[in-house]
Amino acid sequence: MLNIYIIVIKKQFADDSVKQMIMSAKRIAVDDDHICVCAIDCSDSFCSEISNVGIDEILIYTTSAKGMLYLEQTIEILHDLWKCRKIGLIFMENNSYGIACSVRLALLTNGEAIIDCIGIERTQNGFAAIKPIFSSKIRAKININNRCCIMTLRNNSSVEIERHKKTTFIRESLIVKNVPWVLEDKEMSKSDSSLEDAERVVIAGRGIKNSDDLKLVENFANSINAMLAGTRPLIYSGLLPAERQVGQSGTIIAPRLCIVIGASGASPLIEGIKNAKTIIAINKDRDARIFKLADYGIVSDFREVFKNR
Ligand SMILES: Cc1cc2nc3c(=O)[nH]c(=O)nc-3n(C[C@H](O)[C@H](O)[C@H](O)COP(=O)(O)OP(=O)(O)OC[C@H]3O[C@@H](n4cnc5c(N)ncnc54)[C@H](O)[C@@H]3O)c2cc1C
Repeated sequence: MLNIYIIVIKKQFADDSVKQMIMSAKRIAVDDDHICVCAIDCSDSFCSEISNVGIDEILIYTTSAKGMLYLEQTIEILHDLWKCRKIGLIFMENNSYGIACSVRLALLTNGEAIIDCIGIERTQNGFAAIKPIFSSKIRAKININNRCCIMTLRNNSSVEIERHKKTTFIRESLIVKNVPWVLEDKEMSKSDSSLEDAERVVIAGRGIKNSDDLKLVENFANSINAMLAGTRPLIYSGLLPAERQVGQSGTIIAPRLCIVIGASGASPLIEGIKNAKTIIAINKDRDARIFKLADYGIVSDFREVFKNR
């Protein structure tokens, strides 16, 4: 018997990523397997929405955390859960929070984390995760052995779940411990924090080589009242903080205006900006992939574009 757990944190309704995880669990489950959704600080309407989707149990945790749960707090909850229930497979959302949780939980449980998967299949001896590798050129099938496996699933498409079978509800209240390294947590003003809600975003890519380049782009962003964000290389180089990363493993945005400067348009970035209303790209390479998505394009060194501003 396989215990499959789907971890959902602070959801108001069952969005596509939750449906995707439930569908994947149902697809691989056989008769005596047990599917449980562990809903941490989710709304009542979320829990009733998933009460008839054919899972066996909904474990509803209400924590004492005031805002978002810190990773450490979530991991402690999941580690305790793993210790008292024999969990074979855990699904988590494929965002930076879910990925970070998976990796840390795998370390604690001596299990394995397989992130950014696009599917899962039952095999003769167990099951296999399906995952694009080598910049999505290869579709790999990864054998999952007997250890606990924590998977994050890419949200590929919108899915509907057929509805049947009522579910058992279990409710628990948890007191979460303070995280010792946090001295204060105060909610930031919207303009400080919310890349997701920004109406205008300027994205700096690897073409922005140093802090002088970035200053040019930042001044431009300020002049049009846009929020400055970046591609992953800009975050890795330390030019921008991690919360400014746009894309598949960063923030997915849908602003009215998105200006992409010096970024090639790799698919993880495209995932993050494809819902923007208008996209303008500046790139010195006329064949850059970003121009396929952009509504308007400028083929130029970005320094030339900004030099007279
Ligand atoms: C699992 C996984 C998750 C990932 N998640 C993300 C993610 O969330 N977000 C993300 O961004 N990436 C992500 N990546 C990385 C992604 O695959 C690409 O490597 C990254 O998006 C490339 O960033 P870039 O376009 O800035 O750099 P590059 O691909 O190197 O492109 C730089 C571009 O700048 C142009 N350029 C150079 N100089 C100038 C200039 N002076 N003026 C104008 N143009 C110039 C070049 O022509 C080139 O097109 C992820 C990768 C993996 C494997």
